Amino acid sequence: MKTFDIIVIGGGPAGCAMALDLNCRGYDVALCDQAKFPRDKVCGEFISPGADPILEQLGVLASIEALVPKRLKGVAISSYESAELEMDYPVSTETGLRPSSLSVPRFQLDALFIKKVQSTSVKVFEQHKVTDFIFDNGCVAGVHGWDENKTSFSLKAKLVVDAGGRNAVSLRKFSLKQEPKGNGKIAFSAHWQGVRLPDDYCYMHVSRPGYTGISSVGNGRANVVLVVDRSVLDCERVEKVEGVEKPETFYHRVLMKNRRRREMLQDAERVEPVRSVESLAFAVRPVPCSGLVLVGDAMGFIDPFTGEGIYLSLRSSQIASEVIHAGFQSSNFSRNFLSVYDKRRQEEFGGKFLLSRVLQWLIYNRPFCNRVLKSLSTNRVLAETLVGVIGDILPAKKVVSMKFLFQLLVSPFAGEANGKGLLSRDNSLIAK
Ligand SMILES: Cc1cc2nc3c(=O)[nH]c(=O)nc-3n(C[C@H](O)[C@H](O)[C@H](O)COP(=O)(O)OP(=O)(O)OC[C@H]3O[C@@H](n4cnc5c(N)ncnc54)[C@H](O)[C@@H]3O)c2cc1C
Repeated sequence: MKTFDIIVIGGGPAGCAMALDLNCRGYDVALCDQAKFPRDKVCGEFISPGADPILEQLGVLASIEALVPKRLKGVAISSYESAELEMDYPVSTETGLRPSSLSVPRFQLDALFIKKVQSTSVKVFEQHKVTDFIFDNGCVAGVHGWDENKTSFSLKAKLVVDAGGRNAVSLRKFSLKQEPKGNGKIAFSAHWQGVRLPDDYCYMHVSRPGYTGISSVGNGRANVVLVVDRSVLDCERVEKVEGVEKPETFYHRVLMKNRRRREMLQDAERVEPVRSVESLAFAVRPVPCSGLVLVGDAMGFIDPFTGEGIYLSLRSSQIASEVIHAGFQSSNFSRNFLSVYDKRRQEEFGGKFLLSRVLQWLIYNRPFCNRVLKSLSTNRVLAETLVGVIGDILPAKKVVSMKFLFQLLVSPFAGEANGKGLLSRDNSLIAK
């Protein structure tokens, strides 16, 4: 049996970034994915502008740009039916230009990624589902699984990277997943044709019983994602006299409950079945053995509100690749050595995770959400800084402070406004 240097499980953004980076460093890499590409994925499809340089380094930005993709100026947020407050990414101090975020269907993005990997010397095994690991003295030394013909296969390697996403085999095998207390959330998504979007922003509408993200993905299509507490779905189903409500009926009903969304969607048509993902947020315990590294969603997921999962996947693969390279140089794949990656990842993203948690807590509380929007609408610097951090172009330390939180929650005097508009008493936006 041939022994590879590294086996990567999963050909999503994390796995492909990992395989490409390791291939560039000269390693002999195999990548297994259970799917046949192109394959689709539930996602907001909004890629933080901070990902552009990484996509360029990986050699995939040019092929994404060749699709003439939609680029968005920033985020437009509406609090409980207020008019949307548009927040642009801040001007880059290096280029003097405002960055923008790619908005590309995952069906296309992931296909481009895997195509790029296939164009290198990485051995790609599509329709190969990894079901277990090979161990050597308690250290992971390869994988077992099934191919598309239900024939078993085994591959050996000095190190295995699990980039299998939220259902990664390592999470099951070592019981690493930690679901949050309570009901958790559920997301529904579908592409629509003919959505009336005022401008090129990702439109986030926060209202009961959850929030939506609506953004154009090009070719006249928009992605409409709805996120609600799982308990809402269960309660509303139980209340229905006639029995269980279909997920798509629930999705449409909740979308149309919000006046701002209704205006955008009233003449539009859903052009594909509604798909859903459950138990959105989860944390992951440390890997218990040597020879195994987790990247991307397999390392945990918070909530898509701040939409940075793809950036995080790409960047975590870059950090892991540096640590793996150092491991090869000293022939050390011990748990202790590889945990340097966990520490570096936490150092880099800890502030961002905290911000995401604080924002989610704020948005589910109507008075706080209104107040934050009011502060952002009257202080452009505050708004651009926040969107810059969310877009991974400014460091999280810019906003993870009591001072910033105070500025967000203490509404300034109306006369000091310097933003794009003001929120009136009835919570609608007044253009300046
Ligand atoms: C509702 C929702 C909205 C989101 N919106 C955004 C957004 O707007 N912007 C953003 O940046 N992020 C968003 N995200 C997050 C983003 O989708 C993920 O962070 C990203 O896809 C993670 O990439 P990944 O490579 O880790 O995993 P994935 O993209 O899930 O890829 C995992 C791959 O592993 C394969 N695999 C799994 N198990 C095995 C196995 N045992 N054997 C072989 N192959 C296997 C799968 O087939 C899959 O191809 C959203 C997520 C959700 C749920």
